[in-house]
Amino acid sequence: MTISRRDFLGTAVAGSLSLGLLDSKGNGQESKKNEAVPSGKRPIIICAHNGYNYLDDAYPFLAAGGDTLDAALKVVKGPEDDPNDTSVGLGGLPNEEGVVELDACCMHGPTRRAGSVGGVRNIKNVSQVAKAVMNHTGHVMLVGEGAERFAVAQGFPRENLLTEHSRKIWLLWKEYHSTGDWWGPGLADPHWQPPREKPQVGLWQERYRRLDEIAANLGIAPEFRNEAVHKVLFPPTGTIHCSALNDKGEISGCTTTSGLAYKLPGRLGDSPIIGAGCYTDQDVGSVGATGSGEENIKVAGAHTIVENMRRGTSPQDAGMDALKRIARNYNNDMKKLQFVDMVYYILRKDGAYAGVSLWDSYEASKPHTIAVHDGTKRQEKTVALFQGASRDFPPDPKVPAEVMKEFK
Ligand code: ASP
Repeated sequence: MTISRRDFLGTAVAGSLSLGLLDSKGNGQESKKNEAVPSGKRPIIICAHNGYNYLDDAYPFLAAGGDTLDAALKVVKGPEDDPNDTSVGLGGLPNEEGVVELDACCMHGPTRRAGSVGGVRNIKNVSQVAKAVMNHTGHVMLVGEGAERFAVAQGFPRENLLTEHSRKIWLLWKEYHSTGDWWGPGLADPHWQPPREKPQVGLWQERYRRLDEIAANLGIAPEFRNEAVHKVLFPPTGTIHCSALNDKGEISGCTTTSGLAYKLPGRLGDSPIIGAGCYTDQDVGSVGATGSGEENIKVAGAHTIVENMRRGTSPQDAGMDALKRIARNYNNDMKKLQFVDMVYYILRKDGAYAGVSLWDSYEASKPHTIAVHDGTKRQEKTVALFQGASRDFPPDPKVPAEVMKEFK
């Protein structure tokens, strides 16, 4: 494969240039048209930032000949089991009725199979249930009660996934709650209006104080109150995707999540959707996503990126194209796109990889990263389509800086 100096240098600058490359229809010009990108190292695992701590076990397992899907599942089991990760598995923030509903899918490249589960209650390791669907049924996807019953039949224990910590945050959300929820109109509604931008210091101080008081009444310990208040005002997102490639070139991927906090019961995001939250093709590579699930479903993000790479587009450009499609779906209206965010984790069969995101950070000071282990474990910043930080949805006027400072 030809390697040019520009290929190595291109990665660092493409993100900052790419916004300017969108044309008026948002079709975008390729920032680096189909240039050859050097192969990476094998074996390699890439995943979302919350998988970082679990790469230490999974990488040696993969390097010693362990199956690629099992290696990826080892990584995502970490956050699924961790009660303090409020975006995945046990301790995930619940839906609007206080029930944790989990989504997951997986694809096994070498055998070209897939499994998926959605809206599963009471079972923590849904990524493994997705694998069981793949291994033990003639189906690809099971949802809801049927998926739960299948998991129990397969020996997965039923347990209460709502930790005290998450229950209290949900109660705080319930008690405080106003109109800022997931009921319509959504971002895609033609009548949707962005919030008023005028900072309202008094209003925000009042909100924080009220929430702090309710949190105290609910028995949320003082050291957790600020976190709880933030999770009510700005419902967090979070998920983990992981793709693993061995030295023989076998590749697999999986994605698992509790989905959007306080979502409507029964809502499925992109994570269990083969082709959106995860897509693996043994001939090409493996891609996963975290972020605004509804937007990712509409562009079939993971599949789009794999297909771009099949045609010879570099991992980074393949991902940028999917991000531009998301922007195009909103006619590049930045008033709306500021509330959308997306990260793609892209691994090509030869070990080349990229992490790309719609925005470079999700709060002013928190850049999007991907975790990588190819013999060296590290976190790398993603390459972003837009510079700056996304804003949380449901929207609210920006919190004035002085209020943020007071209550952080
Ligand atoms: N993509 C997930 C979903 O929409 C959420 C996330 O990744 O934060 O359910």
